[in-house]
Amino acid sequence: MTNLRHTRTGWWLEEAVSALGPPEPAPPLNGDATADVLVVGGGYLGMWTAWQLKRLEPGCDVLLVEAELCGHGPSGRNGGFVSTLWDDLPTLRERVGDEKAVEVCRASERAVRSIGSWCDEHGVDAWYTAAPTMVVATSDAQVGAWNDVVEACREVGAADEATAIDEAEVHRRCASPLFRGGGMLLPVAANIQPARLALGLRRRLLESGVRIHEHTRVRRLARDATAETSGGTIRAGHAVLAVNAAAAGFPGHRLSLAVASSHIVVTEPVPDVLEELGWTGGEAVADSRTMLHYLRTTRDGRIAFGWGGGTMGLGGLRLGRLEVDPPLAQLLREHLLRFFPQLRDRTLTNAWGGPIDVSPTHLPIFGSRAAVHHGYGFTGNGVGPSHLGGEILARLALDRRDEVTRLAIVEPEPKRFPPEPLRWVGGSVIRHALVRRDEAEDEGRTVDPVTGLIASLPRRLGLHLPR
Ligand SMILES: Cc1cc2nc3c(=O)[nH]c(=O)nc-3n(C[C@H](O)[C@H](O)[C@H](O)COP(=O)(O)OP(=O)(O)OC[C@H]3O[C@@H](n4cnc5c(N)ncnc54)[C@H](O)[C@@H]3O)c2cc1C
Repeated sequence: MTNLRHTRTGWWLEEAVSALGPPEPAPPLNGDATADVLVVGGGYLGMWTAWQLKRLEPGCDVLLVEAELCGHGPSGRNGGFVSTLWDDLPTLRERVGDEKAVEVCRASERAVRSIGSWCDEHGVDAWYTAAPTMVVATSDAQVGAWNDVVEACREVGAADEATAIDEAEVHRRCASPLFRGGGMLLPVAANIQPARLALGLRRRLLESGVRIHEHTRVRRLARDATAETSGGTIRAGHAVLAVNAAAAGFPGHRLSLAVASSHIVVTEPVPDVLEELGWTGGEAVADSRTMLHYLRTTRDGRIAFGWGGGTMGLGGLRLGRLEVDPPLAQLLREHLLRFFPQLRDRTLTNAWGGPIDVSPTHLPIFGSRAAVHHGYGFTGNGVGPSHLGGEILARLALDRRDEVTRLAIVEPEPKRFPPEPLRWVGGSVIRHALVRRDEAEDEGRTVDPVTGLIASLPRRLGLHLPR
């Protein structure tokens, strides 16, 4: 670990900037401004929304403001799994019935493919690689955790979208000694170099005439789409709030999401290890813990290894504590070595993290309050769904209603988290219980009854966790 560099923004952005050169600066707003549509937030969701606005209405005057630099938040530093929402089919069926649930999943499938075709069409080399996601078990307790998804897909006539595979097939794709008892393949999926996508999208937006002001933070956003920013007041016909977990700091949205965090470490290039593991098909892999591990290879032969078990809270987000956490990077190294003991003498080069916008249903949420339209709640699966989110929010901002705005993730029946400080205290206690339960199951131990009870609370309260 001696060479491990722990930074806020991570390896992907370093790679993208060194390969493509630094992006040309976008000046901060300095004075008042007007726009047809104001987009707040320069991550994938805000940028795809801006892109769709220009596509649907080329004459639309779109102004995008970003508190820091576009693509330097989670959009430029995530795991790069481009996923559908088929994994959420059981929850969707329960909430909106089979027909509407399948519509959402099919739309999310189109988003995965559209990102690939957008990259081809617009000359953005984001390392887009179509390859299945493989869900595995790393303890006996996890075996079969995917059965409800496989079964739900079969029941709605979409059996090909999630298929159970046996242990030999799992090992043929990636021979970790930890993987046992089979798994699930989600065939419509891809992986990308996330920062290359974010910076490529930013460049194409500027070329298409979207005005971008970086280092411009929105401090207040009124329902009539007037925004007070660090550089002046913006008056717009409509506004789109696309600020990820920071939405919890905007009135009207506080109870609709909770703030958690996820962290990643990346190895030096280890192509020989990938060969030895047979992990050469580009599969993204996730285990079936509640605080899951996710892992993938990169085009230059590295392994990126992430964990969704970081600390929580809006306060942590404001203080940047969800992003850099050296003890957690050490823990991730230990987790990684359990998966791949042959990495013991190899170098981990970078560690980083970022906030996660957790929705109570595990599903993204889109909607409108007067002239302000919002999207958040990706719960760690926003790379693919944010493309769909851009299609939805652009239509809402242009007041165009069609089958996209009628999807069941638009204006869903509300579900709320408890208010602060209950949410933070309760959330932290539950998080510790979930981590302890995952650890106990990894070690083949039965979890103690108190921990088991606390870990089961989200389910009992009707909140959705992976299992
Ligand atoms: C470590 C990690 C790994 C992940 N791995 C995956 C994965 O493999 N696959 C997957 O699908 N998802 C993954 N995710 C989640 C995914 O990155 C997000 O869901 C997705 O990038 C969300 O995009 P966004 O535009 O909503 O948010 P962001 O990328 O966070 O963009 C929001 C932007 O808004 C800006 N902003 C905030 N407040 C203001 C304000 N007041 N004024 C102006 N601007 C503001 C921020 O600076 C930020 O740039 C991961 C997330 C993390 C942290």
